[in-house]
Amino acid sequence: MVTLFRFRDRIGLGVFVCALGAMHFLETYLASVFYVALPFGMVSPGSAVLFSGKLVMLLLLYMKEDAAKVRQPIYGLLLGNALMIGLVLILRLHDISALSGGKLPDIGFIDQMGWLMVWGTTLLFVDAILIILLYEKLGRYLRKTQFTRILISVACVLTFDQAGFFTALHFVAGAPIAVFFGGWFAKMGAAFAYSAMLVAYLRWFETRQVVAARGLSDVFDTLTYRERYEALVEHVGRDGLTGLLHRGRFDSDGEKSVAVSLRAAQPLSLLIVDVDHFKSINDRFGHAEGDRVLRSIAQVLTQAAGAQDQVFRIGGEEFAILCSQPHPVARLLGENIRNAVKASANRFDISVSAGVATVNEAVGSLADLFALADERLYKAKSTGRDRVIGETRDDAEDFGARTLTRGIGG
Ligand code: GH3
Ligand code: MG
Ligand code: MG
Repeated sequence: MVTLFRFRDRIGLGVFVCALGAMHFLETYLASVFYVALPFGMVSPGSAVLFSGKLVMLLLLYMKEDAAKVRQPIYGLLLGNALMIGLVLILRLHDISALSGGKLPDIGFIDQMGWLMVWGTTLLFVDAILIILLYEKLGRYLRKTQFTRILISVACVLTFDQAGFFTALHFVAGAPIAVFFGGWFAKMGAAFAYSAMLVAYLRWFETRQVVAARGLSDVFDTLTYRERYEALVEHVGRDGLTGLLHRGRFDSDGEKSVAVSLRAAQPLSLLIVDVDHFKSINDRFGHAEGDRVLRSIAQVLTQAAGAQDQVFRIGGEEFAILCSQPHPVARLLGENIRNAVKASANRFDISVSAGVATVNEAVGSLADLFALADERLYKAKSTGRDRVIGETRDDAEDFGARTLTRGIGG
């Protein structure tokens, strides 16, 4: 199921949703014919594991897409069941004739399955709403511990569900009370296993977006609401003057990039670039001219930065670049930018200063990274401007220096 979900951008979300429907049917069938013997003499309805998994799939759908997407399979199952009841009522108006061997269909079994299906789906409807509400509520207290947040949400809703489902199973199929505890026990085990699997999936497979393979739909150049929304968010995250990403995006994206860099042991460097004596440009040539200069510097930064790098305008005449490069390469990028600015804007004799810092054992958060790069920028300013500084005086954590020492040391 998560494989189908993972490739939703390529094969469409409908594949995942239909598979979920098929699982729902199979699970109802299992609920009416199949019991699993558990340790300590407990018995669990055969549907417990599939049902728990389905609820977690709905939670996943909500987490990675939105409530509007979750609503579709939930309403689909509910309305599909209503149609089924209608159909069965019509069929019941007919007489039943025996097959050639004198066999009659087991109407009792069909009725039993029908009732379980209707009741199970109604419960699922309530469960899905409950789990989303609970997951959101818990977010206030458990934002950092995703596993606990998911596990509590799933376990609570499954407990509620078990109480509701057992009641039906008891009256429809005559299930004894041991089935309640057996089912509950199975569901708690499933909640634990599925929560762990969901967290693992989210961590390892949902960090990067699968790029949609564009098919024929491009001919019509349609934008779905979601794409429009994302385009809007993308636009909102940009600075009006330069078109670069703005400070808010720096804070949110930067935090994520640092986390990814630490987890995957990939290099991440930050350059803070500040225009030298920019105020005097405004004073001498006016604000409009100052704006033009800022736009041209933004262009220089974008051209100098790599395709994977992110360029932000984090202040009036202050810019930041997040690049997936080790320290020496990031410093080189800083030098390139410094030279390119001088070459491009020499009408006003403009220069920039920059501070460079890289994530390592001692610099493990965006705040640390920013503080260090800022400190180095300050040093660049105080030692004459028009320079790129990448180390503090007694620099133990400088990547370049460390590699060099290690090289010499043999
Ligand atoms: P330093 O070398 O120390 O960085 O000197 P500076 O003059 O660049 O530094 P300071 O921070 O004192 O001045 C920044 C100036 O940038 C002040 C402000 O008028 C100007 N500024 C900020 N935002 C904009 C903008 O959007 N457009 C224009 N034209 N000017 C801006
Ligand atoms: Mg400045
Ligand atoms: Mg400044």
